[in-house]
Amino acid sequence: MATTTGAVTAAAAGTGSLGQEAYERLLTELISLEIAPGERLSVDALARRYRISQTPIREALARLESDGLVVKTHLRGFTAAPGFSRREFAQLFDIRLLLEPYAAGQAALHRTPEQAAALQEVAARLRAAADRPAPPDHGVCTLLDGQFHDLVAAAAGNPLVRESLARLHAHLHLARVPRPATDAALAAAEHEPVVTAIVTGDRHIAEAAMRSHLERARDRLAAALDRSGP
Ligand SMILES: [Zn+2]
Repeated sequence: MATTTGAVTAAAAGTGSLGQEAYERLLTELISLEIAPGERLSVDALARRYRISQTPIREALARLESDGLVVKTHLRGFTAAPGFSRREFAQLFDIRLLLEPYAAGQAALHRTPEQAAALQEVAARLRAAADRPAPPDHGVCTLLDGQFHDLVAAAAGNPLVRESLARLHAHLHLARVPRPATDAALAAAEHEPVVTAIVTGDRHIAEAAMRSHLERARDRLAAALDRSGP
């Protein structure tokens, strides 16, 4: 996460970035589960803890509410969203499996040279983040994976497909499931044939490679949920 960078940027900018800084800090705490699902989020307490006024905290909470990570209720105020159930994750992957192989196929036909370069770069960054001797940072890897999938959707050239996928906030929900350190390297390896097919313009292989990656990611997630929950 770019929390430190965000704080530095905010300080350099002087004003206006406090909402962004609060957003990044809260996002980091939510996806690393430092703030547990269902935990109450008091605007007053957060303002004191972050040493900023309540306005940027409210801004940040409103953004996180639209991301699906925070829930606002009439009587309780803000709380961290409950974790996704197995059923909700299954439904999430059903939709992704409908849209993303198609998007990858279209990306192979329509991607620009800049989009191809961006895909290769993000794929390489995830590979580097996953391959370190120290256990990889789960939050960073999940968000890089999210960027990768968003770039594929963008390269497909159909804004409705990209928007529909973005609205699922899949990676923010996925980031909150603790998973083995090896998962990131497996995902990075599965991205390789997707990138190659999109770069070389092979629609059918791009579709098949994306489908295979999502099916494996879904199975790994199911296994992680079986280990972690009742
Ligand atoms: Zn992926």
